Amino acid sequence: MDLLKEKIKMNAVVVDEHVLKVDTFLNQKVDIQLMNEIGLHVKDYFEGKNITKVVTIETSGIAPASFIANHLGVELVILKKQTSKVLNEGILAEEVYSFTKGNTYNLCTSSKFFEANETVLLVDDFLANGEAALGASRLLKRLNVGLESIVIIIEKSFQEGRSKLEKAGLPVYSLACIESMCDNKIKFM
Ligand code: 5GP
Repeated sequence: MDLLKEKIKMNAVVVDEHVLKVDTFLNQKVDIQLMNEIGLHVKDYFEGKNITKVVTIETSGIAPASFIANHLGVELVILKKQTSKVLNEGILAEEVYSFTKGNTYNLCTSSKFFEANETVLLVDDFLANGEAALGASRLLKRLNVGLESIVIIIEKSFQEGRSKLEKAGLPVYSLACIESMCDNKIKFM
């Protein structure tokens, strides 16, 4: 998606060769027009696939996922990150290792948010090592929720996320794929 790539080129900050900071348009301050374009782009791509819900992971996936859900005309379910292992009835959890924080958390949701025969898109801001998307897809599988595709706003293709997801048979659609981030320069695939 050219508009997104342009925004990344202009505003993203390469922290080191593995971490990209996008706090001025995606993670903290949010470019609403860009989110709207992302929503339209994803709606056009998945038109006719009978998507029944959009699912995302708190917190950074919420902004793009909201616009995608809005343009598809469906509801959004936010998977929560919970540190406590004391879980309430009806709540399912999967352990996930966080790339940015270097710790493990429980990704949680409840069966009450899903109906029978759902087909969902799972949206996240970044794909790095694939742990968040794998944890979320395990949760959806346990709930018998059909996953049409994982939608990633920024894929760091030099990390192992995509190959792990593909190996697990999970389709991935990424809006911007970064090949490398060396010497402060972002190179797209
Ligand atoms: P993964 O589970 O694929 O290793 O990492 C994905 C999660 O880590 C994303 O949900 C995102 O919040 C965070 N993340 C991974 N890499 C980056 C990065 O370069 N920049 C930012 N801001 N977040 C990242």
